[in-house]
Amino acid sequence: MSSRQSRHAWRRFRPQVRVPIKSREELDIMRLAGRIVALTLRRLSEVIRPGVTTAELDREAEDFIRSHSAVPSFKGLYGFPASICTSVNEEVVHGIPGPRRLVEGDIVSVDVGALIGGFHGDGAATLPVGEISDSARRLIQVTREALDRGIAKARSGNTVKDISGAVQSFVEANGFSVVRAYAGHGIGRKMHEDPQVPNFVVEADPDVTLVPGMTLAIEPMVNAGTWEVLVMPDGWTVVTADSSLSCHFEHTVAVTQNGPEILTLP
Ligand code: MG
Repeated sequence: MSSRQSRHAWRRFRPQVRVPIKSREELDIMRLAGRIVALTLRRLSEVIRPGVTTAELDREAEDFIRSHSAVPSFKGLYGFPASICTSVNEEVVHGIPGPRRLVEGDIVSVDVGALIGGFHGDGAATLPVGEISDSARRLIQVTREALDRGIAKARSGNTVKDISGAVQSFVEANGFSVVRAYAGHGIGRKMHEDPQVPNFVVEADPDVTLVPGMTLAIEPMVNAGTWEVLVMPDGWTVVTADSSLSCHFEHTVAVTQNGPEILTLP
């Protein structure tokens, strides 16, 4: 789940960003949380098809997470009413599962969090429903590669802006836009920790140097049209302002002595 961008708050009240550093033992637990997230996403990719409702995906995910002795991180987080977020087509993030029946050609951004042993994992993928258009497929490919390029920058000695810049430049070179109102984030004992990991760079903003033991949820949210978004009257669902398609991929990543390690792998 992405965090709401708080650049102004950061500037005014948080001149010193404190990033929790995880021990080897804590990383072991986060690897387990991440694996449960990845397995849940894989399970959902197997059951998603035309005719399935997003509420059914939510139930499947919650049962799967609990069957692995974990708890769905999002349920009740800031009051969120479900276990996963399901955001369809022009919906960007934080869509609430419900009676909507998916149809051939939809794309669904599924965001999953799992809590086990006191630590969270967070991951997302945009899943196709049956056959999708070439333009939707291209948006998915570009967003997935933007995530890969961001992850490659999660190295000790680099900064958060190296990640942000890699995502933004690749997305914009491909003619798409990155969402600005929501960002990736540090993750660990809490779903949202410092630092924020935006998908774009503002030169004047503070930056954070990466060191081993930092754990980050890197999550490009990419729109086919404008970067501008709106929040629907339900108070949660974020949609593109021009109703263009949107896509979201996310991994939880640890900065290690040996480079980036993706924790949300099956
Ligand atoms: Mg997240």
